[in-house]
Amino acid sequence: MKTRKTVFSAKTAITAWSLAMGLAGICAAAPIETVPWNGHVGAVSFTFDDALENQVQNLKPILDEMSDVHVTFFLTNMGNGLQKNAAGFAALAKSGHEIGNHTDTHAHLSGISSNSELEKEIVTFADKIESVMAENGAKVRVTSLATPFCENNDQVSAVINTRHFINRDCGWHGRNEWDVEAKWMSIQAKIWTRSGATVTEMLSSLDTAAFIGDFSNANPWDVSVKGGSWLVVLNHGVTDDTGDDYATNPSDIKKLFQHALENDLWVAPFGTIGAYHRAHFIVDKAEKTETENGYTIKWDIPNEHMPESVPLRVKIDTKSVDEKAVVEQDGKVLKPESDGTYIIEFMAKALTVRKPKDGEDNPQDSTVVLAKAQQVYRDYTKFTLFDMNGNNLGSIDGFAVPARFPKASYIIRAEAKGLSPKIVKVQSR
Ligand SMILES: [Zn+2]
Repeated sequence: MKTRKTVFSAKTAITAWSLAMGLAGICAAAPIETVPWNGHVGAVSFTFDDALENQVQNLKPILDEMSDVHVTFFLTNMGNGLQKNAAGFAALAKSGHEIGNHTDTHAHLSGISSNSELEKEIVTFADKIESVMAENGAKVRVTSLATPFCENNDQVSAVINTRHFINRDCGWHGRNEWDVEAKWMSIQAKIWTRSGATVTEMLSSLDTAAFIGDFSNANPWDVSVKGGSWLVVLNHGVTDDTGDDYATNPSDIKKLFQHALENDLWVAPFGTIGAYHRAHFIVDKAEKTETENGYTIKWDIPNEHMPESVPLRVKIDTKSVDEKAVVEQDGKVLKPESDGTYIIEFMAKALTVRKPKDGEDNPQDSTVVLAKAQQVYRDYTKFTLFDMNGNNLGSIDGFAVPARFPKASYIIRAEAKGLSPKIVKVQSR
């Protein structure tokens, strides 16, 4: 049976404590709080090593079918893998999959003592991957690496850190907890081999990551499971050839993808989830500076080789400024999501919360949102209003809920010949 437990977490305790202290005027709660795992119960990154031809042949068709699944390919030129399969990996990159670095020759990195030799394997090859992908029409920014044979040491980590913001090693259960800052140059991953794991065990790992199950009898020497976590999985080939111990069957990997989605896990590349996770430790600690009409928050980027864009879903304290406070980044007003959270850009390094100016369009004002929606979707000709239970309330004129309907949330379906229907949730005034 699937059960999801609620626990009185340390975080809840701290929040309650800061609230109490805040009331006492001693300290105020942090103004930004990142929503764990982008609003999912947990997260999983499937990674595929070694730039193998059967990944393009057998995995790509599965990924092409499953638009909610994005994975990571760690490329190496071992066996001429990068050069031989460049077109296939470039196509995968263009579909939103991550291309990462697995070193030039699949080297035993801990056996190399010369820094220039390490730089050739790691730094020069990261640039090489980008240029080969560009020659094949894909704009790729390499931001993560996976160590071959999971061989790592301080010297190796230091070189990786000059060109990547995160590195995958391997071993153990491969789970990362939301509130525990991992070693970014040595993220653990659960390894798949035919002889070392079963598909059932992998499926159960996805349940654990989604915090589904009863963990009260978990081994005390294991990391205790306290909530949804980020599972990193290490795969190699994708083929039915059972002689390849490292390979997984195409039908099995598809089963794992499907189970991850059923569990409402965030299924995204290693670098995407890693950047979200790493950014949250910074943003959630960032302090505000009061301004004339609100406050600003600034933070630093921990590594310049993070992805170009790191969107974070966050809760922001706007109420302490104004009921209709405006959130801005780089002079652009952010529109809140329907649940009141904001998607901010971590790489912008700052945000502002301020009172609205006189007569300013407030993005929280539904009529403004609707007017904008109308502008974007003015080609639609037929509009149907539904209540939140899906009952058809009849035809209306546009994206605005007519005044005769009570104040509530509604769904509007817009249709037009030659356009796919647009469904929007709206709040009437
Ligand atoms: Zn490898």
